[in-house]
Order: sequence, then structure tokens, then C-alpha cells
Amino acid sequence: MLSEVRSFARTESVQVRRHEPASYGHLLGLLRSDKARSIRGAGLSYCLASAADGVDCISTGAFNRVLEFDRERRLIRVEPGLAIGDLVSVVCASGLWFPVLPGYPSITIGGCVAMNVHGKTQHNVGNFAEHVESLVLLHPDHGELHCSTTSHADLFDLTLGGFGLTGYIAEVTLRLQPLAGTAVRRVAHRVRSLDDAVATMDDLATKTDALYSWNDFNRPGASFGAGLVYAEYFVDGEEPEPEPARSMPTLPGWLPRRSAYSAVTMPLINRVYEVRDRLRPTRIGGVVQTAFPIAGNEIYFHLYGGRGFYEYQWIVPRPSLAVAIARLREAVAATRATITLGSLKLFAGSQSLLRFDGDGVCITLDAVDHPATAALFARLDRLVIEHGGVVNIAKDSRLSADVVARVFPEYRDFRSRLRDFDPHRRFDTSLRRRIDV
Ligand SMILES: Cc1cc2nc3c(=O)[nH]c(=O)nc-3n(C[C@H](O)[C@H](O)[C@H](O)COP(=O)(O)OP(=O)(O)OC[C@H]3O[C@@H](n4cnc5c(N)ncnc54)[C@H](O)[C@@H]3O)c2cc1C
Repeated sequence: MLSEVRSFARTESVQVRRHEPASYGHLLGLLRSDKARSIRGAGLSYCLASAADGVDCISTGAFNRVLEFDRERRLIRVEPGLAIGDLVSVVCASGLWFPVLPGYPSITIGGCVAMNVHGKTQHNVGNFAEHVESLVLLHPDHGELHCSTTSHADLFDLTLGGFGLTGYIAEVTLRLQPLAGTAVRRVAHRVRSLDDAVATMDDLATKTDALYSWNDFNRPGASFGAGLVYAEYFVDGEEPEPEPARSMPTLPGWLPRRSAYSAVTMPLINRVYEVRDRLRPTRIGGVVQTAFPIAGNEIYFHLYGGRGFYEYQWIVPRPSLAVAIARLREAVAATRATITLGSLKLFAGSQSLLRFDGDGVCITLDAVDHPATAALFARLDRLVIEHGGVVNIAKDSRLSADVVARVFPEYRDFRSRLRDFDPHRRFDTSLRRRIDV
């Protein structure tokens, strides 16, 4: 029987045959079949990265165990369906920590590897891939492959940020770090523009354990991007404030088609958000709760309604930053797009293959599904091609193969290495078809 699979941002959907294997026997049987398949973790990619028309969709949900935990060597071996929030809860209890945490706790380890995700610490610790010791890959034509920097190194490299197209990731071994405190102090610093936000973050970068911002991109002129920079510090001996019990995000089956966000409501929503944190700029939270700032705030996604939303993420290289910010401000004003969320993170390191990494400032924009958003994002594509840096393929359901090929210097290398390894296209997704790899 076919059932609907949607992207998290709700802008793409397909009818597919879904499988929820609960045993390795069942899983291996599915992987052996001649049909192309896709692998699905928690389904929290904004674009349709885990399903495609005519392709069987295999869930990792039942494979969520910790297989081995070596506290002495600070290594943990897990199954791909383990949620990142569960991973940190387990390691925290032993005084350890995993340093790269995307914004939501139910994102799976398999999804983190396949998208090489980043957290609020990227400038200090890099992306997820840099903390993967080894992994086990299952492929119908190649069997079981143990991959690391010393074994099948080329395939290991291709799988880290390989969009789940090199095979089924059956096990992942992660390197852990000592936990640096029993709670986290979060301080909100007011910033008066996007340039001010970057300057404030640069000033705080070496003094904080995690850093990100919230920016209002709907403000015109010199105050474009005014908002708050959040600096987080591990602390000892301070009691975290009590947190409400949180549930995992489930979007209801039915949502109103219209979004609650508009040019009329956004200024009010942004004002309420900003004033709330300016009135109480310092908070002490639990280490796990503070790690996932979106948990507990799922209403933000529900208010988009049934049509969903789009996100643009661009790592702007430092030499282009000033002009890129000016051009971004002009583009928002010219298209009159209503931005529902603006945010910055600092990035450091080098960029390779189709991974969302490299040196610069990561600018994130969310916007409702609207012609003005389409016009703005098309202008942003041109800005990225002109000014350099890369875009986040995992976040944008609209990016074309042409833009991806022009933005990523190693696009052709990724494509040919993937096709050499898997000439029969055993793994396929809507994302793969759209970006033509
Ligand atoms: C609220 C929210 C906040 C987020 N915050 C961040 C953030 O801060 N930083 C960031 O980088 N991303 C962030 N993301 C994006 C998210 O981390 C990635 O899209 C991630 O890949 C989602 O993982 P998932 O478990 O939902 O996997 P899915 O969306 O189901 O799949 C993602 C990809 O992983 C592949 N995959 C999953 N399991 C396996 C496996 N076992 N073997 C092979 N391939 C597999 C799938 O085929 C697919 O290509 C956020 C998403 C949400 C919804």
C-alpha cells in the first residue's frame, strides 16, 4: 500500500511504499531487492531527502540502540535510528558530551551523518563528520563495508554528507568529549543591525561554548538584522531553571492552508519575541534542554499552515561579507518578502564535496511559501554564485542542479564518485533527482 511522505517544510510530497523493518533479517531482505530504495530517519530534513516517487522507503526507526559505550576511550557505537537527544542524555550521565548538535533532539544519527549537520559550535568544533570515528555501510552490490579514514577511506568521505546515497548506514562510532559543566548559562546580547551582530559574535567567539543569533530581517535601513546574539557557557554549581516537559514534533494531519505569518503579523511577533528575551537576558538551563533551542517551540512551524515554508542558508566568505549583507538587505526590500526567521552562526574550516561547511558567516532566512519568497531566493542564488560560499542542500527544497553545480566546486567530483560506486542507482531520492547527482 502506498502512503504519503512529506518533507519537513511541507513543500514536497510523494506517495511511496513504506517499510519499517524491526529485525536485521527483514532489513537485509529489503536491501537485497532489485528495486531502488531510500532510507528515512526522523524525516526532519526540510527537503525530501528520504523518499522519491516509485522508490521503496525504509525507516531506521527500530534500529535505535546503543551497541557499545567505551567511557575510557570516549567512543560510542550506535545504530542509525538513535535520536541525537537520546545520545546526549546517555553520554551526559557518564560525564561526557557530543559537541555537534543540530537544533532538534529527535533528529537521528543516520540523518546527522548523511547531511553532515552542524550546531551552534561549528566555529569551535566543526561539523558532525569531524567526530565520526567509523561507520558500517550496507549496500546491495558491495555487501557490508567497515569504513573509516583507514578503511574504504574514499567511501567514508563520500558517505559523510552523502545524502544517504552510498548505502544504508547500519552503525556509527562517534568520538565524545568531556562534559564541561552541569548546566548552561545563556546570555542574550542586544544588537542593532546585522553588522553589529557579526561584530558581537566575533568578539564573543573564543569566550563562549556555543553562539548563535536571532535577527529581524524585516526592519528597513540601518536597523536591518537588529536582534539578539545568544552566548552560551557551560557552568558548574548552578541550578537549571525548571523546564516544561517536551514532546517530539508532530505536525497535525490537517493544518489551515493560510500561514499565520504575514507582513502585518511579523512585526508584532518579532517584537514580542525580542522583548521577552531582553527583559530576561540571562537564563540557566539544563545541558540537554539548552542544546536544542527549538524543542518546546514547535508552534513556530505549525503557524506556517499547510503550504509550508522555505529556508535559505548561506555560508558567506569573510571577504564578501560586507557587500553580501548590503545586497541581501536590498534584495529583501526589493522583493518585499516577509522573513519569518533570521539567524547567524560562525563557521570555520574548509569546504569539500557537497558539504555545508567552510569559513565564513552562516546566514539563515525562513519565509512562507509565496511568490515574493521565490523571487528573493532566486536573487540569493545569484548572490551566492557572485560572492562565493555555499548553500545548505539539506534545507532548500527549491535548489536546482544548475545552481548546485555552480556553487559547489567539487559537484562533478561528488557526482562521478557516487556513480562509480553505485552505477545502478540502488539508492534514490527526490533530492538526488533534483540536484542530478
Ligand atoms: C527543527 C529542526 C532543526 C534543525 N536544526 C539543524 C541544525 O541546527 N543544523 C543542521 O545541520 N541541520 C539542522 N536540521 C536539519 C536536520 O538536522 C537534517 O536534515 C537531518 O538530516 C535530519 O535527520 P533525520 O533523522 O530527520 O533524517 P531524514 O530527514 O529522514 O533523512 C535525512 C537524510 O539522511 C539519510 N539517512 C537517514 N538515515 C540513514 C541511514 N541509516 N543510512 C543512510 N542514509 C540515511 C536519508 O536518506 C536522507 O538523505 C534541523 C531540522 C529541524 C526540523
